[in-house]
Amino acid sequence: MRNAQRRPQVTYSQRMVNRSRVTSGAVALVVVAAVVVYGAASGDGFVATSCYLGVLVGASVGAWIGAERLPRGRRLVPRLIAAGISLTALGDVLWTVLDLMGAGTDVSIADPPWFASYAVLCAALWVVLGRTRRRGGSRVDGDFLIDALTIVVVSVLIFWSLSVNTIVTDQSVTPFVRAVWAAYPIADAVLLALVVRVMMSRNARAAIDTSFAVGACLWLAADIAYLEAPEGAAALVLMDAAWMVAPVLLARAAWRVGETQTDAPGASALGGWVAQLLVTVGALFVPPALELTADLRGEPDRPLQLFVGTAALIALAFVRTARLIHSEERAHRELEGSRDAALAASRAKSMFLANMSHEIRTPLTTVLATAEILEDTHLDDRQLKLLGKMHRSGELLRSLVEGILDFSRIEAGQLELASTPFDLHAMVADAADVYTPRAAEAGIRFEWHLDPCVPRMVVGDPGRLFQVLTNLLDNALKFTHQGTVGLTVRSATTQGAGDCVGDVVEFVVHDTGIGIPVQDQVSVFESFRQVDGTTTRRYGGSGLGLAICKELTQLMGGSITLRSESGAGSSFVVRIPLAQGVRDHPSESRPAGTHSSIDAQPAARTRTA
Ligand code: ADP
Repeated sequence: MRNAQRRPQVTYSQRMVNRSRVTSGAVALVVVAAVVVYGAASGDGFVATSCYLGVLVGASVGAWIGAERLPRGRRLVPRLIAAGISLTALGDVLWTVLDLMGAGTDVSIADPPWFASYAVLCAALWVVLGRTRRRGGSRVDGDFLIDALTIVVVSVLIFWSLSVNTIVTDQSVTPFVRAVWAAYPIADAVLLALVVRVMMSRNARAAIDTSFAVGACLWLAADIAYLEAPEGAAALVLMDAAWMVAPVLLARAAWRVGETQTDAPGASALGGWVAQLLVTVGALFVPPALELTADLRGEPDRPLQLFVGTAALIALAFVRTARLIHSEERAHRELEGSRDAALAASRAKSMFLANMSHEIRTPLTTVLATAEILEDTHLDDRQLKLLGKMHRSGELLRSLVEGILDFSRIEAGQLELASTPFDLHAMVADAADVYTPRAAEAGIRFEWHLDPCVPRMVVGDPGRLFQVLTNLLDNALKFTHQGTVGLTVRSATTQGAGDCVGDVVEFVVHDTGIGIPVQDQVSVFESFRQVDGTTTRRYGGSGLGLAICKELTQLMGGSITLRSESGAGSSFVVRIPLAQGVRDHPSESRPAGTHSSIDAQPAARTRTA
């Protein structure tokens, strides 16, 4: 039992493949034998005719069997192919009977089934194209139709120059016969156009099987050869051999059509841009190329054909271009619409966030104020400790809420900057006053330097500028465990000693802390981004500070840059244009409630704590 399990198992599908290979081989042998017998008899006599018609009838029977064995939903195309082959076989049988009876065969009752076979085969191709087009969904119907029409026009032009021209100028038969004969190359052209169109689409190609294309092309080649009226028995036998083999190949396609799954997404478009270009632009070269070929072959000029062909192709190219421009405009409009909608949605979200943060901040402020008042009452040590915890957490929460509030206001485009004269020197000194003791508490040195070139009175938004500086200084303190944290303020356009020109002030916040790896130096300015996920746990913070700094400096018309190295400290440089303000009322310019009463110092100020 165990041994039986180890033996390689021949699966059901493998057995089916093997069986179908044996059947195909047997059919191929029979067809080859029939063609050889037909050739040996030079296409004459009962045996040759039986071989010829036998192959055709056999192919149609085979195609019908192939179609009927498929499940219901998949039978349409194989049935159309089988019907096409049967109609051809019927035409050939009728033609042979008429020929045997000695009746005229220039135009006969064999022609309607032959024409019908074209129609049915074209219908099969059309159905395949339609199905794969719907599945791929990447091309609109209009474009598909223009592609197909272009290929039809090109094929008709080629066939016309090959044979139709000869037929319509043949005076040995009646105009009716000429018209019927000329209709064959036109039908050939349409069939060829559809075959080409199918072959250019990956999905359609997979759906119809290549043997259909090979069979159709063989058939068309024999048709062209027939219209060229070749001399010699060998040529006639070859032509007939092609007519024998072609239906067999078509019948093979009828067997295989239902087997292939064609669900590759987007594969229904023309096979890549080269094929697309060939159809759109290459087609325009066909009429002059045909004219040139005719000239080289010493045939007379055909200006009407050249004109009609070129005009038709230009008209198609015109329609295609118009559609392209139109669809591009539409896509552009849709894109703009989607962008506006996305922006509006984002703004609405930011507004919501801003409102919520505001609503949270108000009661939070009350809670913190109450905690402060509570601290002044009689409390035991444990209560004081708990209150302190509550206060610190409350402060953290408030700074987070304020960060979100600022950020969402900026995002919603609701943040308006003030433009007021203020004392920049005083602001820098105030910042130093705040951070010197904090740094000392953390065992870090705090340095600050104010360049004398920096104007004292400037115009801008002191509150927001102070916010940017404190954000950077907070971070510097947070991420530095030993060494120095510093603030340098200088004129960005200082020209040598004493020459102070320009309005741009440069604020450099530097530290000797943990630094920021190069790969993170851009992302840290994005909202909610931190160098690593554990930062929040180890150092606290929301990842909003630098994003707000960046937005604020940009709103102030400035920029923020970062120079840092992992483990070697960081240096944030903020450049902001600050126009000089009035000098005579420095007291008016103090940012309300922000700065202490340190007076501005003359000349350069440098302090180290
Ligand atoms: P957070 O609230 O987390 O500090 P920020 O936007 O201010 O948010 O900073 C984003 C991240 O940038 C920080 O989490 C930290 O990883 C890094 N960072 C900012 N400043 C410094 C600094 N001076 N030294 C080292 N890393 C810093």
